Amino acid sequence: MKIRNWIALLTLFVSSFFLSTLAYSATVKVPETVKQGGIYVVGFAGDENISHVRGVFGKKNVHFNPTPYPGTYSALFGVDVAEEVGPELFRVVVTTKDGLVYLVDKEIMVAEADFGVQRIRVPKKWVNYDSETEKRIQLETERIDEVLRGKTEVRLWNTPFIRPAAGRISAGFGLKRYINGIFTNTHSGIDIVAYLGTPVLSANSGVVQFVEETFIWGKIVIVDHGQGLFSTYCHLSKILVEVGEAVESGHEIGLVGGTGRVTGVHLHYGITLNSNVVNPLEAEKISLDKNCCIFISR
Ligand SMILES: [Zn+2]
Repeated sequence: MKIRNWIALLTLFVSSFFLSTLAYSATVKVPETVKQGGIYVVGFAGDENISHVRGVFGKKNVHFNPTPYPGTYSALFGVDVAEEVGPELFRVVVTTKDGLVYLVDKEIMVAEADFGVQRIRVPKKWVNYDSETEKRIQLETERIDEVLRGKTEVRLWNTPFIRPAAGRISAGFGLKRYINGIFTNTHSGIDIVAYLGTPVLSANSGVVQFVEETFIWGKIVIVDHGQGLFSTYCHLSKILVEVGEAVESGHEIGLVGGTGRVTGVHLHYGITLNSNVVNPLEAEKISLDKNCCIFISR
């Protein structure tokens, strides 16, 4: 690889990464430490004999994109809000044009993020479900998880992520939730307070992959932005899109409501990346430079 390509790659990333050269003469740039709920960029520089690069972080697939510089790739990856704290393996699987496969392993330290605690009280019917409701919740959760595993290999967005509705955030991302005094879950998104019927906009361009009225999430829309990145909009009063519909950034996909398990009218907005639940506010830091290389501005 030409020296100017190396220099070009090095300028693509802005934060504190560490470098190491490997036997396979490849360089992987990973963040030394990541936080629960965060979104990060990984850079890979090999040679021009590579046919394909993919990554695995915490058993979940990471999509690498070639950059304009031959032999170099970059990828976005998410750290789940409940990711175990401590060292985690980031594996890069390199396939060469000769069909050889190389594994390049790096260790990333996962640090705890303290998002705080929220205690809420809801009517008993929202926590003590009959077996039929339990079954419904389980099936709906499984179907949503299946959608979020993602099959779209290409990136469907090229502008920054926007906030889907204006308003105060009444419950932040990652709150440890105690419902009626019992630890129930970790808040998987942000709650935006808005009037009933306020338009909900798609955070970026993509394809609608899930539209339904579910028990917990009420009327929900899931938009696929490609390569394992999804945005989710819950408790809508009205859904304005259909499965399979392509949407642009800012497309009106529904109206704010109070359907499902809620204590009031609001928009629950979530982002998942590689099936990891990440902070939607982190998605707003993702950008593309003039060469369409992804970077995070922190
Ligand atoms: Zn919420």
